[in-house]
Amino acid sequence: MSKRAKLAIAAALLLLGVAVLGAGEDVRFTLGGALVDVGYFVQDPIDEPEDITPSEVLSEVHAHNELAASLRQHFPRTHHHPLVAMVVCMDSRLDTNELLGDTRQYYYVLRTAGSLLSEREEEMLELAVAGGVKVILLTTHTDCAAERAAADPVQRARYPHLTAGVDRRAAHRAELLARPAIAARIQSGELIVEEARIDTHTGRLAVLSSLPRGYEEGHAHPP
Ligand SMILES: [Zn+2]
Repeated sequence: MSKRAKLAIAAALLLLGVAVLGAGEDVRFTLGGALVDVGYFVQDPIDEPEDITPSEVLSEVHAHNELAASLRQHFPRTHHHPLVAMVVCMDSRLDTNELLGDTRQYYYVLRTAGSLLSEREEEMLELAVAGGVKVILLTTHTDCAAERAAADPVQRARYPHLTAGVDRRAAHRAELLARPAIAARIQSGELIVEEARIDTHTGRLAVLSSLPRGYEEGHAHPP
């Protein structure tokens, strides 16, 4: 790292320390969330060269990890027990920290192609609920490559398992809700399961449905 870069990081950390010292919880949360956005904004214009080789990409991955891990050791974290389990597509444009402005590890994040659930994920979500999760957020998102593939006969022939999974996505979600341990907690009010669609470009969630029914009143609905 160049001397200039080290000085810039030191100055940023000093400013951050001054801003955080003495701030209340609301201010700390909002400031932390804003800094997530600032971090994305600062890195966004940096392009990777098009002719980069796979071994160069892998070297960058390890160099970035080394730098990130060496910085992180100066910022110890508190472990928070997750309260929310989110199912999110693997699309790289979606980032759950950015989506929520929350880095506190209150979220289990289950990322699958097309936000698809199989029996394995259903069991994992049930396990999370048994461990204390109070909200399951089942998302889909606009401009999803898996949904586009499912709507295209040529891609359906090429990717039969993925596209069949998209066809069965709603059925798997219904299976999850019907699992006795999940259904009982929804019934008793210990668990809310919400379906929402993420606008890929703005990151805004539009609530599609929720259980127990009626909870979504007052939330934003899609057009
Ligand atoms: Zn997707």
